[in-house]
Amino acid sequence: MPTPTLPRGPRAKPVPVRTIPLGKLADKRWPGKLTDARLDVQAVIDDLDHYYVPSDTTAKTRCIDGRHDPELDENHLGPQVPGGAPGAALAHRLGVDADDLTRGTFHNDAETMIHSYLRHSLAPGGHRDDQRDQNDGIGCGAIDGLDTVITVMTDPDLVDDHKRLVRTLMGSSFDRDNYLRVLGAALMLRAREDTYFADRGGILDLLDRLAPNSVSVLEGGHRECLVVVNFVPDTTMASNRFAADHDGLQAFGYDIWRSRQLAETLLPLPSQEVDRHRFVMARVMITIATLMVLTDGTLPLLAHVPG
Ligand SMILES: [Zn+2]
Repeated sequence: MPTPTLPRGPRAKPVPVRTIPLGKLADKRWPGKLTDARLDVQAVIDDLDHYYVPSDTTAKTRCIDGRHDPELDENHLGPQVPGGAPGAALAHRLGVDADDLTRGTFHNDAETMIHSYLRHSLAPGGHRDDQRDQNDGIGCGAIDGLDTVITVMTDPDLVDDHKRLVRTLMGSSFDRDNYLRVLGAALMLRAREDTYFADRGGILDLLDRLAPNSVSVLEGGHRECLVVVNFVPDTTMASNRFAADHDGLQAFGYDIWRSRQLAETLLPLPSQEVDRHRFVMARVMITIATLMVLTDGTLPLLAHVPG
């Protein structure tokens, strides 16, 4: 079998990669609406490398959302993480923050995270959508739904499924104590979610102000039909092109390598090793819970890994 390689680009290296099917997200019903579109998964797997390109550290961070971004520069794609840069703030709150448990707001945490991005010359990013007449939030499911994400993450009926997937994605770095620690922090946050998430509507205005042109406006409705978790460093999915080539069907793309890289950038000291683990754990936990909020669990899950 020929070894798959990344498409050639200005910084592309011929890294052998492969795509591994991990079945459906779940065999029980999740709360979200997006459902299996009966895509030919094997055909997607065979062709997936075609849609992975070198990520550009100077391009704005993207959400896992698979909808069309009319301003996306296909030659300069930032990595995909849930909620973009503001989304990382919740992971920091749940995994790392040592503040009083009854203090803090998502708005303040996001502001701190955006400043951290800028201090480290990372390009933050976030998005609205063009459906704002139909929903109350800012248009990013990974931010609008954060209170639901916390509720789902701490739901006893879903926790086994949640832990199974987090463990699958984290592999040998899964640590049950860290998992339970983040879950405990989420439970405390759930008890005061009205206060914590109160002013999240202003987060994208803040992002726009601190990092001009970092906020995208995604077009149309959600049609994600699969989830790809990408472990190949410095690569990301060309999401517009994927949807264009699949009759408008979209993919959730999560660049898990970026969460590890961000942890190493924000928490670089040897003494911060535990915090790095906890940050990545929280980020992966939030990603799975976000998928629980957005999908019914029937979407196929693929892992794109170094070969
Ligand atoms: Zn989003």
